[in-house]
Amino acid sequence: MGNDALPPDERHASALAAWREVLGTARVLGPDQARARYPQDTSGTRRALAGALLPGTVPEVQEAVRLAQRHAVPLYPISTGNNWGYGGAHPVRDGCMVLDLSGLRAIRRLDPELATVTVEPGVTQAQLRAHLDRHRLPFMVPATGAGPRCSLLGNALERGYGLTPYADHFGAVTSLEAVLADGSLYRPALAEMGAPDVDEVFKWGIGPYLDGLFTQGAFGVVTAGTIALAHRPERVESFFFELREESHLPAAVAAVRAILTDLEGVSGSINLMNRRRVVSMVEPFPAAEVPPRQAVPEEVVARLARRQRLPAWLGVGALYGTAAVVRAARARVRRHLRGVPTRALFLNRGRLGPLRGLSRLIPGALGEGARARLESLALGLEILEGIPNEVALPLACWRAGRGGEPGARDPARDGCGVLWYSPLVPMRPETVADYAGMVTRVALEHGIDPLITLTSLSARCFDSTVPLLFDRADALHGDQARRCFAALFQAGRDRGLLPYRLGVEEMDRFARLAPGAGALAARLRAVLDPGDILSPGRYTAQEAERAGGKGT
Ligand SMILES: Cc1cc2nc3c(=O)[nH]c(=O)nc-3n(C[C@H](O)[C@H](O)[C@H](O)COP(=O)(O)OP(=O)(O)OC[C@H]3O[C@@H](n4cnc5c(N)ncnc54)[C@H](O)[C@@H]3O)c2cc1C
Repeated sequence: MGNDALPPDERHASALAAWREVLGTARVLGPDQARARYPQDTSGTRRALAGALLPGTVPEVQEAVRLAQRHAVPLYPISTGNNWGYGGAHPVRDGCMVLDLSGLRAIRRLDPELATVTVEPGVTQAQLRAHLDRHRLPFMVPATGAGPRCSLLGNALERGYGLTPYADHFGAVTSLEAVLADGSLYRPALAEMGAPDVDEVFKWGIGPYLDGLFTQGAFGVVTAGTIALAHRPERVESFFFELREESHLPAAVAAVRAILTDLEGVSGSINLMNRRRVVSMVEPFPAAEVPPRQAVPEEVVARLARRQRLPAWLGVGALYGTAAVVRAARARVRRHLRGVPTRALFLNRGRLGPLRGLSRLIPGALGEGARARLESLALGLEILEGIPNEVALPLACWRAGRGGEPGARDPARDGCGVLWYSPLVPMRPETVADYAGMVTRVALEHGIDPLITLTSLSARCFDSTVPLLFDRADALHGDQARRCFAALFQAGRDRGLLPYRLGVEEMDRFARLAPGAGALAARLRAVLDPGDILSPGRYTAQEAERAGGKGT
């Protein structure tokens, strides 16, 4: 029997008491403790949390969910809760208990022969790296820019992307286990039917593909997942190419498409970054020259770029294979770039060593600058090899000018202001050029720096990530960033471009703009979770009614 007839306060108090019986006092947090544990997100989002639950085993998760159902208190499951720029650990709605799964940290099984690993939600990129190194296993960790302390499953469940050959992280998930809203345990059909081994090596299973329900949704609490791991090949080599002029972008897009088509399985993702994005990687934010709530003036960007000899766009890719394959691929890359006025530079960690040695001989600030850039480059190359690190995190704090403690960076706690606009962009030269022009114009109109990255997801499509950086100490600047997101969303949609993922503040857009899909999700929820206790409001139609008249 549920007790949703009780007033909310009493319901909440009796639920807390019941959870404490199961989990113990220390693993059931009240509202104040939860507020202290889960900082405001980098996007500025902070919900009124009812508390947090910290289970350590699957049966504890099941019992926690059953009690939530009985007491009609909604839960918001997170893995490590570092969903920076999309809401962090914060739910779509106020009044949820965070169901924090970071304590489920088992690497349940690693199959070195078939290269799969089954992990619980608390297993981080760093933990898997350490495990692989300890056992001398030649696999890459599916690393992201969000760094070593992020959950492998949390990222995959958001359908995040990374920087290694298996860049589509949910694409690499072959099997999921989840607790449903009634506390029962879902396992894929093949595993139930007696073939768990097959289930771990074949993503689609048999019958309706149900694992997908547990991504970007609210249909269950995922307690384990199997991930296919990419082998670290004999040679990993990155390549760089510079575009001197903005007008060279369409030709570069065509070349990227040709490289990816030609070198499928050898070329990893290719990134294109605009000048402002590259400036943000190599120069501190020029605070003294930027009026409050404004983007860096164009003449300052031009001067910094001249000083550092930065191009209009920088392309970065990686080749994976045996030494002979990579050598042959290098020639193909050069050939495909012939149509673009540029030259490719190839680099691997081996070649970087002597350069770092030489930089030590350069005295003064020049030497220091060279060493810092080579250090970042080395860390960037490590990520491409599946060795997670924090090299991408300072971006979140570029505008704020502080980056947290190396080794313990946490953009939410460090006060960084960033929310993401991350649309999918078909790999057509004219579409990409038009998109880049649109982002630049709209962002500058809103006093936000247009820092554009285009990451290839295939030879057909880029995911563009645009961090809208703002000063989190300045509420007006935060409002500006949110208005900028809305304007980008609208201008992108006018061109048929939409994000692959939304922050918790933006769920009503999904609900309103996809009424059919949203309504179907709501109908499924009505059956699977009639009490609406799991992540209420995530990617379902209900959010449209609640949001009322908010614009597109
Ligand atoms: C500088 C910077 C760089 C970044 N780079 C990248 C990048 O390269 N690629 C990328 O994808 N993202 C990136 N991000 C965004 C984000 O920080 C990452 O995606 C991060 O991995 C998400 O946090 P998490 O892994 O802790 O997942 P969580 O926050 O734990 O999970 C994300 C969401 O998934 C759902 N969820 C999580 N676990 C469960 C579960 N067990 N059951 C049911 N639902 C669950 C919840 O709705 C949760 O809010 C970056 C952010 C910053 C600031």
